[in-house]
Amino acid sequence: MHSLSNFDLHCHSTASDGILGPAEVVRRAAANGVQVLALTDHDEICGLAEARTQAAVSGVRLVNGVEVSISWGGTTIHVVGLNIDPDNLRLQQGLKAIRGGRAERAKRISLDLERVGITGSLEGAYAYVENRNLIGRAHFARFLVEKRYVSDVKSAFQHYLVSGKPGYVPHQWATLEEGVDCIAAAGGVAVLAHPGRYKLTRAQMHRLLAEFKDCSGSAIEVITSAHTPEQYKEFAILAREFGLCASRGSDFHGPGESRVDLGRLPNLASDVNPVWHDW
Ligand code: AMP
Ligand code: MN
Ligand code: MN
Ligand code: MN
Repeated sequence: MHSLSNFDLHCHSTASDGILGPAEVVRRAAANGVQVLALTDHDEICGLAEARTQAAVSGVRLVNGVEVSISWGGTTIHVVGLNIDPDNLRLQQGLKAIRGGRAERAKRISLDLERVGITGSLEGAYAYVENRNLIGRAHFARFLVEKRYVSDVKSAFQHYLVSGKPGYVPHQWATLEEGVDCIAAAGGVAVLAHPGRYKLTRAQMHRLLAEFKDCSGSAIEVITSAHTPEQYKEFAILAREFGLCASRGSDFHGPGESRVDLGRLPNLASDVNPVWHDW
């Protein structure tokens, strides 16, 4: 694949907390000129089959992907797996274990929201869930918007659902090693998602990248909707420094909710090694 093809290697469908079904995501990507698309639902791969069928129709090259939830010390981090084998048992079991904690967490989130007088949030959030195995904070955020506690999803995550605010409950996800191992076992490459989003000091970021590399991590997202243009440069430098490849992905969740649409991102700079260099 030509390096200037339009790669979008991070997005979501209704298999997790996206708004569009897998086929709709692929159609929209194609309409936006995406040539290579990875569907990367949170802790879930059940959307890939439908996406693959549509990709053949739409002329998009589909990359099997997933976004794994990980606890690294006190920080939740996300690692995207690309070119994973969805039939791999180790991956399937690992993801099932990670998803398993979500229903219980959702109950605790709703109890915490009740503490500030917000009732009915569990049923309210489930009304936005298509895959019963995969309830997340975005579904609660949509409920909070619907009930006009906040005006949009972004403010839902400013006033609720995040550390220190009502509706936040700490949760243990997979360890970094477990998460990356699941991806590697399924033949995939591990990509640290949106590194600029983690509230880490410079020293902590260096430690994370070093540990990620030690666990056989391959790449970091450099161009993503969560990054500012300064961060594009910052993480390109870190990728080179740590000998990691660079990835590009919108993290699109749905129209009206995501600032950046599928494929509508700047290109990777030519001084980084794209994660797709050997595809
Ligand atoms: P969860 O895995 O259930 O903890 O939810 C994580 C998801 O919540 C992310 O993938 C986003 O979809 C959403 N999210 C987290 N923080 C924000 C934010 N500040 N603004 C909008 N969405 C967010
Ligand atoms: Mn999400
Ligand atoms: Mn993420
Ligand atoms: Mn994501």
